[in-house]
Amino acid sequence: MAQKKAKNIAEPLKDLVALCKRRGFIFPGSDIYGGLTATFDYGPYGTELLRNIKNEWWKTFVHQREDVVGLDSSIMLHPDVWKASGHIASFNDPLMDCKQCKSRFRADSYFEERGMGEGLDLAATVELHNKHQTELACPDCGTRGQLTAPRQFNLMFKTRMGATAERDIEVFLRPETAQGIFINFRNVTDSCRVKIPFGIAQIGKSFRNEIIARQFVFRTREFEQMELEYFCQPGTQEQHFSHWLDYCMQWLKDMGLRTENLRIRHHEKEELSHYSDATADIEYQYPFGWGELWGIASRTNFDLNAHQSLSGKNLDYFDAEKNERYLPYVVEPALGVNRLLLAILSDAYVVENPGAEQRTVLKLHPRLAPVKAAIFPLQKKDGLGEIARKLYLELADFFPVDFDQTGSIGKRYYRQDELGTPYCITIDYETRDDETVTVRDRNTTEQQRMPLSAVKHFLLEKIFSRDTGISL
Ligand code: ATP
Repeated sequence: MAQKKAKNIAEPLKDLVALCKRRGFIFPGSDIYGGLTATFDYGPYGTELLRNIKNEWWKTFVHQREDVVGLDSSIMLHPDVWKASGHIASFNDPLMDCKQCKSRFRADSYFEERGMGEGLDLAATVELHNKHQTELACPDCGTRGQLTAPRQFNLMFKTRMGATAERDIEVFLRPETAQGIFINFRNVTDSCRVKIPFGIAQIGKSFRNEIIARQFVFRTREFEQMELEYFCQPGTQEQHFSHWLDYCMQWLKDMGLRTENLRIRHHEKEELSHYSDATADIEYQYPFGWGELWGIASRTNFDLNAHQSLSGKNLDYFDAEKNERYLPYVVEPALGVNRLLLAILSDAYVVENPGAEQRTVLKLHPRLAPVKAAIFPLQKKDGLGEIARKLYLELADFFPVDFDQTGSIGKRYYRQDELGTPYCITIDYETRDDETVTVRDRNTTEQQRMPLSAVKHFLLEKIFSRDTGISL
């Protein structure tokens, strides 16, 4: 069924959203059928950006850590996993619908925001609804007395698994990747030479039937997560929690996010989940305001304990050095890939010299840029096209390269600036004579002449060396 296009794209994101569509980063989902609310498809450049983000994360959180290994678990897990994790019991929010405009929203937030109570459960919201029914106004259309009684709404997507209607079972699409890690804890310790403290990392899709999905890819119902569960000895969690908070923050800065757009928010005691002894969010200042980017939670041994109890399988760990058995504690940094992509794009989006000379540029970190270099033969003819193709093939062996031989050089630069391509290389008539090319820097727009044979080395050094020397 075709649905209305998402109407909630915040005004401050308008220009970025337009650029994402115009330049093939992100398209509205099911576009030709009129869209499907809050779903998005990643175009050719968005796909490269997503891959780069995930590869950089994997490199820093798995490859460069002797104490972290990777995992790729299923999206559909045994239904008991969600019983043990508490998702079936607690992933429920009370909701009200407006009979007039059909919008749906959380009943507890509705009453809390109006100072009518705090920490309200379903029963409390129903009572408030019954008492004040005729005065209650819809937050969207303002109509009074048209709100339905609050009902429980589970955020997990359900589906059925099995070939025949009689024998199939109800399963859920995972709302987080973490539980796939916990249920494989024993498999990993039995098969790999891991010693506590160590972590298991995973990247994968998660699904939540969010009541309100909005702000572009900030909150969607299908999204990707990069999660790490770091298992440690009970009593040491505080030190690991603070290590991971610093480590995550440093990585965001290394990926080019501006320090002034990042902050840490420690959760107050009352706000902590019942199983957590410390939680902090790294927040990012999106164009629409501050929002959670990365949640870092010290989760005690709640999950392993719950899975051990329900599955009946022993999940404790034998610490050979200490000669003791215990159920490890865990520290979890959990990050949304798409939320990070939005932060990276917002941070990189710059409009210079507004007016006639205006230039829109995505100042992406070169490692994240979807395309690392673009090659422009000044003309297709006179042998310039062939030289350019040869360079294209040489570079494409190492990283993605664009090839563009149409329009003025200025227009070609304009397009690559909007794609965030760090370098453009022009092959002109001089190249034929002395085998030199012009290399143009995206950030400074300065051009330098260098031997054709030096281009590959120059780009590899500039894009991939630890210190790129590039000011973003
Ligand atoms: P929020 O309070 O914003 O709903 P959360 O606290 O429920 O987020 P977690 O369960 O901690 O989120 O998930 C870890 C990370 O996954 C979040 O920090 C965020 O980056 C990402 N994430 C969670 N829900 C969504 C979503 N609906 N769309 C996109 N990313 C999401």
